[in-house]
Amino acid sequence: MKVVETIAELRKLRQKLPGPVGFVPTMGYLHEGHLALVRRAKAENASVAVSIFVNPTQFGPSEDFGQYPRDPQRDLAMLEGEGTDLVFMPPVEEIYPPGFNSWVEVGELAQRLEGASRPGHFRGVATVVARLFELVKPDRAYFGQKDAQQLLVIRKMAADLALGLEVIAVPTVREADGLAMSSRNTYLNPEERGQAAVLYRALTLAQRLYNEGERNAETIRGKMTDLIQRQPLADIDYISIADAETLEELEVVRPPALVSMAVKIGRTRLIDNVVVE
Ligand code: AMP
Repeated sequence: MKVVETIAELRKLRQKLPGPVGFVPTMGYLHEGHLALVRRAKAENASVAVSIFVNPTQFGPSEDFGQYPRDPQRDLAMLEGEGTDLVFMPPVEEIYPPGFNSWVEVGELAQRLEGASRPGHFRGVATVVARLFELVKPDRAYFGQKDAQQLLVIRKMAADLALGLEVIAVPTVREADGLAMSSRNTYLNPEERGQAAVLYRALTLAQRLYNEGERNAETIRGKMTDLIQRQPLADIDYISIADAETLEELEVVRPPALVSMAVKIGRTRLIDNVVVE
């Protein structure tokens, strides 16, 4: 496994990688969710490249960029264990040299849900991913369904800009109690960790209500809200039931619908979703 920090080294090694190349962009502090992406990339491509880069431009000024967990040595050991071929872990100045000021802005899709709660977030995500795609030149790129809107935004960007690669979705990997794996789960103290399982319970409730024939989005959201509010440390940012492709909010649930939410547990903001079909 080759590990490089500069664009020059990356370009040199990329030329020698047997294709097709599968690419997994990450912010590090890896867990089984990330590894599911790497394994899928490994299964479908001759070579696998992974990036580890905590992207400052996708964090708001009052968000956790400074505190975001980092453990590159552990990450590299995990990636080595999966047979990764190339790891790109650039310093910030390599991606954003002084004076950098060109941005990728995805329209409406990026304004909803996470985009509404985190202004500028998807501009940062789309810009760094476009930059990484241009450097790594993958044939396929792998993204987690956990970040459903991110996946849609990247797909839209790749299609609109004709980036010439395939964007592949990988199902969400969960803990035993249903909590979606996330690097941010490490922020949770034991009491918060216990209450965090309510996100998935609320999503399961939505799926059950839908299966039982409920189609009124407001009714489903109301019951999810009641369930979540029973956890004293939970504070709902949004609960959405939206068209799974356009992310337009639905009054009447019709499949495929994305049921998604952002909930703060204590000071930690968690997101999760399921698709009902
Ligand atoms: P991050 O390091 O949080 O930026 O995530 C890197 C990639 O891993 C993104 O495509 C995420 O959607 C994906 N990912 C994160 N958590 C999970 C999970 N629990 N299951 C599947 N994919 C995940």
